[in-house]
Amino acid sequence: MRQLIDVKIKSKSVKAINNGYPLLSKEAVKTSEAKIEEGSILRLIDPAGKYIATAYYGIQNKGIGWVLTHKEQEKVDLKFFIKKISEAVAKRESFYEAEDTTAFRVFNGEGDGIGGLIIDFFNGFYMVSWYSEGIYSFRESIYQALSEVVDVRGLYEKLRFNKNGQYLEQNDYVSGEKGEFPLIVSENGMKFAVDLNDGAMTGIFLDQRNVRKRLRDHYSKGKTILNTFSYTGAFSVAAVLGGVTGTTSVDLAKRSLPKTIEQFAVNDIDYEAQDIKVMNVFDYFRYAVRHELKFDVVVLDPPSFARTKKMTFSTAKDYPKLLKDTLKITNDDGVIIASTNNASFNMKKFKTFIDKAFTETNTRYKIIEEHQLPEDFIVPHNYPEFNYLKVVFIRVMN
Ligand code: SAH
Repeated sequence: MRQLIDVKIKSKSVKAINNGYPLLSKEAVKTSEAKIEEGSILRLIDPAGKYIATAYYGIQNKGIGWVLTHKEQEKVDLKFFIKKISEAVAKRESFYEAEDTTAFRVFNGEGDGIGGLIIDFFNGFYMVSWYSEGIYSFRESIYQALSEVVDVRGLYEKLRFNKNGQYLEQNDYVSGEKGEFPLIVSENGMKFAVDLNDGAMTGIFLDQRNVRKRLRDHYSKGKTILNTFSYTGAFSVAAVLGGVTGTTSVDLAKRSLPKTIEQFAVNDIDYEAQDIKVMNVFDYFRYAVRHELKFDVVVLDPPSFARTKKMTFSTAKDYPKLLKDTLKITNDDGVIIASTNNASFNMKKFKTFIDKAFTETNTRYKIIEEHQLPEDFIVPHNYPEFNYLKVVFIRVMN
């Protein structure tokens, strides 16, 4: 039997939860957590004992659970999951209908009312990511709900949590048709090879869809582009399809070379005409300066944290330096596309990093575009801090 536990919320946190804040933090809770099991249903009450909301208990790095409903009588059962998934699917109707885009997010955790649960669509296949043991305990009901709401060609899953500190060994395939990988998906007419059965990543970050389209349609024709932290080279593909004269993709991971070749190949691009470098971006900057290389467009999309033998990099600390290095190899009138998915700072703060880099190098600049998460990555209304993606297009004016 699933536990049902009354949990007292500290008075300072009551207002936010009433206002729709979806995350239950450790600090908000007065009741001892000692006996609470993952997946327990929590009846959140204020200091006077009045009902506030219903949540589930599931430990993630962000908090200890998520609010599911503010209606005391609403049960967290199959009917509940069918309702949530149906609402989410209805909001993506235009994505289901679009013929030239066959990969998108169907369910975005807290933005769709169930934190810790992500569902992505890849050409008829569904991939479900579970972020805690707590949410995973609802697996059977959620899979049943999903299959009642949509046609599932094949189902895959990723377990993005640890059990007793141990990463869970898992089989990504769950049920239905087994995919043949790479599976080719379309995005605004571009093609991308994805693999749902290959560890943590799939080959494409869906949240950058609008940025890839802008890059292809407005910043590529006749230009040269440097794509740093390029992973499988998705931005390079967009740039070639937009008519660049050349791309250079730089990533430290050895697998990035075959993966980038594959992305070019599925778009009928001659990969031998493109430059793909397996190396540290910071070494590449020195190499480019030495060889007097300069680019019209530079994409910067580093991971929030990276550690190599020689150095550690954190976007929260080192972004200004990354931009300064980039400026040395960007043409006058060029464009830097600066991106970060670090949730620990917001767009305003990110712009202070940009300003610092340009001010300290006496370079004039103009912000010409800003992007955050696309339409299918729905975030909670009143809480923009869940909109982690920040992308700024900067024109170098000197
Ligand atoms: N821009 C990519 C996603 C980047 S993911 C896209 O749109 O698809 C971050 C990538 O940075 C990973 O592939 C990782 O291998 C790479 N990386 C991390 N540290 C690096 C470094 N110091 N130099 C080069 N690549 C690095």
